[in-house]
Amino acid sequence: MRKSTLRLLLSLTLLTITSAFASPNPSVTSEAVLQTTNEIILSFPETATFRAAFSSDVEITSIVLEYGNEQQTCGEVIAKAFPQFTPGRTVEAQWTWEMRQSGSLPPGAQLWWRWRVTDASGQQTVTEVKTATWLDNTHNWKAMNNGEFLRLHWYQGDQTFAVDLAKAAYNGLRFNETQSGLKAEAPIDIYIYASTDDLKDAILYEPSWTGGQAFPDQNIVILGVSQSDLEWGREAIVHELTHVLVGHLTFSCLGDVPTWLNEGLAVYSEGELDPASERQLEEAIRNDTLLTVRSLSSGFSEVADKAYLSYSQSYSVTKFLVETQGQEKMTSLLLSLQDGMTIDEALRQTYGFNVDGLETAWRTSIGAPPSSVSAPTAQPTPTFVPTLVPMGGVRVPSVLQATLTPVPTSSFGGQPTPAPARTGPPLALTMILLGLCCAFLVLLGVVVLGFVVRGQNRKRGDNVQ
Ligand SMILES: [Zn+2]
Repeated sequence: MRKSTLRLLLSLTLLTITSAFASPNPSVTSEAVLQTTNEIILSFPETATFRAAFSSDVEITSIVLEYGNEQQTCGEVIAKAFPQFTPGRTVEAQWTWEMRQSGSLPPGAQLWWRWRVTDASGQQTVTEVKTATWLDNTHNWKAMNNGEFLRLHWYQGDQTFAVDLAKAAYNGLRFNETQSGLKAEAPIDIYIYASTDDLKDAILYEPSWTGGQAFPDQNIVILGVSQSDLEWGREAIVHELTHVLVGHLTFSCLGDVPTWLNEGLAVYSEGELDPASERQLEEAIRNDTLLTVRSLSSGFSEVADKAYLSYSQSYSVTKFLVETQGQEKMTSLLLSLQDGMTIDEALRQTYGFNVDGLETAWRTSIGAPPSSVSAPTAQPTPTFVPTLVPMGGVRVPSVLQATLTPVPTSSFGGQPTPAPARTGPPLALTMILLGLCCAFLVLLGVVVLGFVVRGQNRKRGDNVQ
């Protein structure tokens, strides 16, 4: 039975972290219990299996696995698992972390674990903490540093491709530091997958449009960028890096950053608005159809046009704050949010106005009429906010993104970016065509099923006869 379990494990194994059990001399933390095996076997992206074997002069009666992943959390989070084992002087235990049950971790996350072993005399031994990187080994990952705070990981494309993206990321960091006062304080790992398909294979639960995601709590950004998407990649990398910086600076167990500020800073860091978004914003100013800033606090619309406008407006409001009030005040605003202040309190303390006051000042600055009582709001239904990255005027239909159910990874603070769109047929037309295709397929299915059932009935009838 042990053999079959082992074989099963080996067949599941995609990656074995050798460093985790590299020490030939058994490491001991107590003279009573000897640790002969202590390893982790990763089957990325599904499971991580922890295995250990101990021996002791006294019967071992309890084994507890303590594990987790290195991330910013509110208080210490230690998960515990109680693997089944047969008490004795020589024992083996293993436990599998099922990512589908716990919510998937981003590629590059640092796992840690230790074992707590108790013998019949009541003596407890705790093994040293070990760590492993949660990553696939199907790709031949290469890495390069750019400055103190950036590590770019990639596996496809030449050095020029990687240098290009690393440079864009570096410039994005510089821009954020000088313009918004957002500084990186620890290295950020950026994993570049060669395509959105590869990216999808690496994470569980992600909707098909995901082209990238930021995980501020783990200092990780993942993106699917091919050589032909380089221009999109440069912008997306900066956008997602900004989410990591904002998430880091404002990390708090008390408060939250309003969506307009988080997305506004991310779009602002990409540079100028693309012409299409610029035009849409100007039109909204002219037609007095701007959304209220307050309505952009918790989520963006499911309706494509409003979603696009939400990003452009967030950009415009953020730009107004940074460029008329200065970088230091922006930093102070973000720190106030970290302290748990509401956005109204934080704005009032920093700038002397609340969200409504900001709205008035911003509208004046862009030449828009004062907000009317009936000003449109961003959403009837606030939703999970995926990241939109401008694509040279073509944006991914947000209606597809916003209607998707929030994914478990969002609990890690992930900020997904839609995959780069290659073509830009009108959204409505696309949706209608999709609808017609579905209807046609259903109809076809019914007809085919009808024939099959009739055929089978006839056959069965024949057999009976
Ligand atoms: Zn975003």
